[in-house]
Amino acid sequence: MEKPRVAFFDFASCEGCQLQVVNLEEDLLQVVQAADVVSFREAMKGHSDDYDIAFVEGSITRRSDEARLKEIRKNAKVLVALGACATLGGINMLKNFQEQDGVRRFVYGERAADYETYPARPLKAVVPVDLEIHGCPINRKEFAMVVKSLLMGKRPEIPNYPVCVECKMAENICVFQIGMTCMGPVTRAGCGACCVTEGSFCWGCRGLVDNPNADSEREVLAKYGLSVGDILKKFRLYTGYSEVAK
Ligand code: SF4
Ligand code: SF4
Ligand code: SF4
Repeated sequence: MEKPRVAFFDFASCEGCQLQVVNLEEDLLQVVQAADVVSFREAMKGHSDDYDIAFVEGSITRRSDEARLKEIRKNAKVLVALGACATLGGINMLKNFQEQDGVRRFVYGERAADYETYPARPLKAVVPVDLEIHGCPINRKEFAMVVKSLLMGKRPEIPNYPVCVECKMAENICVFQIGMTCMGPVTRAGCGACCVTEGSFCWGCRGLVDNPNADSEREVLAKYGLSVGDILKKFRLYTGYSEVAK
């Protein structure tokens, strides 16, 4: 049986999510054995436009990116957004709240006019996306699980409950109790609440659960006098595109 052909692409990003894939070690060997990787700039030299599954990292930050992404979409049977830049717009989206010519001058100085830019956006704002692998960066184990599911023709199960659930399972003290704010009540789980466990709080890098307003964890927010809208305003880092798109 012919192996599925897999390709990796990147747009505006730090390439940290692709690095997670390269660092898969044993799991990567299994992927390589089960699929033909035909394009992966960070890990190999070859390239082919003949592929079944495209993993795409990064956000769309220039109009010219759109044509390239549409071409990838045309070639791929399945398009998977890889990481928060691709699923949410990610960190690049912070520029969306600044005056765009000013941002361009800040980055490119005197040659600003030579470089195009426009407000950053996730892949799904430009083309249909079949699947999203969340996180900044993505979780290696989750990536391996998604790939195995796709290769078996199954839809992977991505959690649709809030980070608070995993945070309580990890027996963390809620950061609201020590005067901090946290996106955990409305953010999609799957990371094991690692940031809280490491002494920080959740920034929301895995995006919102499907219906944050109906989530029972919003009671955590109410207890501290906050609403879903309040924390979305406070944490624009990963949710700003949906805020602008409204
Ligand atoms: S989601 Fe985070 S780790 Fe992944 S490419 Fe974007 S900035 Fe880098
Ligand atoms: S609000 Fe944050 S710290 Fe509190 S339980 Fe939820 S994820 Fe954990
Ligand atoms: S705790 Fe929040 S910010 Fe940290 S990895 Fe999980 S979803 Fe991302």
